[in-house]
Amino acid sequence: MRLLSFVIFFGGLLTAQTQTKKTILVMTDGLRWQEVFQGVDPALLNKEAGKVKNMEAMRKAYWRETAEQRRAALLPFLWSEMAAKGQIYGNREAGSEASVTNRRNFSYPGYNETLTGFADDRIDSNDKKYNPNVTVLEWLHNKPAYRGKVAAFGAWDAFPWIINGPRAGFPVNAGYDAMEMTPTTAAMELLNRLKAESPRDPEGEPIDALTFHTAFEYLKTRKPSVLFLSLGETDEWAHAGKYEEYIRAANRVDLYLKTLWEQAQSMPEYRGVTSLVVTVDHGRGRAPVDWKSHGEKLDETKYIWMAFMGPDTKALGERKNVGPVTQSQVAATVAALLGEDYAGAVSKAGKPIADVVGK
Ligand SMILES: [Zn+2]
Repeated sequence: MRLLSFVIFFGGLLTAQTQTKKTILVMTDGLRWQEVFQGVDPALLNKEAGKVKNMEAMRKAYWRETAEQRRAALLPFLWSEMAAKGQIYGNREAGSEASVTNRRNFSYPGYNETLTGFADDRIDSNDKKYNPNVTVLEWLHNKPAYRGKVAAFGAWDAFPWIINGPRAGFPVNAGYDAMEMTPTTAAMELLNRLKAESPRDPEGEPIDALTFHTAFEYLKTRKPSVLFLSLGETDEWAHAGKYEEYIRAANRVDLYLKTLWEQAQSMPEYRGVTSLVVTVDHGRGRAPVDWKSHGEKLDETKYIWMAFMGPDTKALGERKNVGPVTQSQVAATVAALLGEDYAGAVSKAGKPIADVVGK
């Protein structure tokens, strides 16, 4: 007890000891908690509501009798690794609620809340305006220990504004923009060419593969301490009402998580000292129609999910009958895993999720 009060009293001055030295934060835009915890939705796995064309292949790949089997088929890494060795929040049917607090339930407010730790009423559109707030990425980068060791990659070309790249001073690569590195690599040059030569519509985003492999090549060669990656296809295909592509995109995100994790465990700089955090910017509505959209008018689209794994996170698995967690807690949790007290420095920010950082 005396030690505990000492820690609380000096909590603002001391840096907590954690084993995490590297953090990878991955977001996939608007992937519903329903698919994460229940797998493919039978109300959408059809021609009428989900425009599914390859029914046989989709059923073979993703349909199973129980929700547990379906979710494991859809997101095998998330369920066999992250949920087994870490923690996952947001299964509303099991008494775990994760939600955004910004009330907007769309992307820019959600990324702002995730990355700064607080909702901001000024952020009321997805317009490309520089974020007046400092993200936890920039806050870390401003510390000598993280200078030159933070990088962000997003499929959505608004990220240089959301993260305020010019002010933040670390790479924020987004949309179809080439990733300039000195020295560069043959793989990065090829990725830059594929982006330049891709068909595009002005409002659209590159396929996740281009964004993922850009971030992955950077991770392998530059070994950042903090890597942020945001993928977009889960939101794009859902807005288009194409459930088959939405599901395939979610399955690819799972493959990317596995690829990142296995790569990290193969590198001495990352092995055993890396924490992986995965979440979304907002939820979506229900089948058969509302699943395509999200926003203020669909209150239930405030519900999200989040998963954590790493040396400082107890293997408590799928959280059931626990207190609610919010998107505003992610920033301070990411920092706390690294032993940094973001919540102490930024009073508006949500507190770290105690169970995630309390090993
Ligand atoms: Zn959207």
